[in-house]
Amino acid sequence: MKTKTLKKDKINIITLGCSKNIVDSEELYSQLKANDFEVEHESEQDDANIVIINTCGFIDNAKEESINTIIRWAEAKQAGEIEKLYVTGCLSQRYKPDLEKEIPEVDQYFGTTHLPQLLKTVGADYKNELVGERLITTPSHYAYLKISEGCDRPCSFCAIPIMRGKHVSKSFEQIEAEVRGLVKNGTKELLLIAQDSTFYGLDLYGERKLAELLRRISDIEGVEWIRLHYAYPSQFPLDALEVMAERDNICKYIDIPLQHVSDNMLKTMRRGITRQRTEDLVKTIREKVPGIAIRTTLIAGHPGETQQDFEDLCEFVKNSRFDRLGIFTYSHEEGTHAGTLVDDVSAEVKEDRAAAIMEIQQTISAEVNKEKVGKIFKVLFDRKEGGYYIGRTEFDSPEVDNEVLVSAKDTYLRIGDFANVMIESAEDFDLYGKVIAQ
Ligand code: SF4
Repeated sequence: MKTKTLKKDKINIITLGCSKNIVDSEELYSQLKANDFEVEHESEQDDANIVIINTCGFIDNAKEESINTIIRWAEAKQAGEIEKLYVTGCLSQRYKPDLEKEIPEVDQYFGTTHLPQLLKTVGADYKNELVGERLITTPSHYAYLKISEGCDRPCSFCAIPIMRGKHVSKSFEQIEAEVRGLVKNGTKELLLIAQDSTFYGLDLYGERKLAELLRRISDIEGVEWIRLHYAYPSQFPLDALEVMAERDNICKYIDIPLQHVSDNMLKTMRRGITRQRTEDLVKTIREKVPGIAIRTTLIAGHPGETQQDFEDLCEFVKNSRFDRLGIFTYSHEEGTHAGTLVDDVSAEVKEDRAAAIMEIQQTISAEVNKEKVGKIFKVLFDRKEGGYYIGRTEFDSPEVDNEVLVSAKDTYLRIGDFANVMIESAEDFDLYGKVIAQ
């Protein structure tokens, strides 16, 4: 008698979008593993029979990438390469009814808070005891630490509150448990992320508690680097800067998206801050945390942006000499306040303005990098590639900032280790050096 072999389900998780989506995929991954599922993240092999896509719905480009990824796997399902296809994340949260109509091959669409339902659908149970126990998909020595979900801010251009809901802080205890779990598994660097990390605690403890959170995480043994991302400029908790200055294991680094600087644009963007207060805050950050690297993000071409606004922004970028800077061209998003305004800056002008800002920044980055030649920096090595060990100083976040390259010819380094590196030469966005002590 022929025995029927029960083919075990194998799941492939695909993550699009930001670091917050990576954490959500890691929580899904951990839950499935704990339910004895065979599961992979971004698997190269095509032997999974179930695919789950965690989408991004932030701006046009990201939405397009998400839709193309869904279509690619819908075609794979029609071709019989996979059996089941599920979609979750921000795009699904925002456009579920349209997606169900447009791409019906998907077995089910889930929102950003539907992890238990998604698990149930694939035959797994949500395990509460796993909170704090997260398997990571980044290199084991660094991990994203999401300290809250959602956002209460009214920024005109942003659809995130539509997709992620109101701001909800995790408790100190939950975050500390998560950190201990990550450190136990070899994590050395924690990247604190949120939609708005400076809002931390206001909902849960009735006051901003970022400073206390930083101190608590910094007190946990084994945490070597803590990096603060997604700080919001208005009502910035200055006490957090004191903790950053006093603690060696908190990187002298802050990611603070400012988006713009002209008073006209800050008002239209509903950022709750003025040019003067923005410039004062940048000055205060540098005074309170000497040597800190500041990363910011800007938007070019928001409705109502005049040539004068743009020139103000150029002057601000020239004078502020940010260490790291990224710029987006404005994306007209329905459901946002700006989505009700006239998108009066042409795509070409948007692109030109973004390119002009990056040109200014490239010069600044080259000059800032040149000043590092001859100096020694503690570097955390992320990978080996093209004959080089590639790592970062405390002034650089993974994926978005500068890197340090050390020739692998006569050096041996373990990925995930720190080493002291003497910088020998600099390029616009990268540094080259040699190891002087490990
Ligand atoms: S702070 Fe503003 S830009 Fe950031 S997620 Fe909230 S609404 Fe969006």
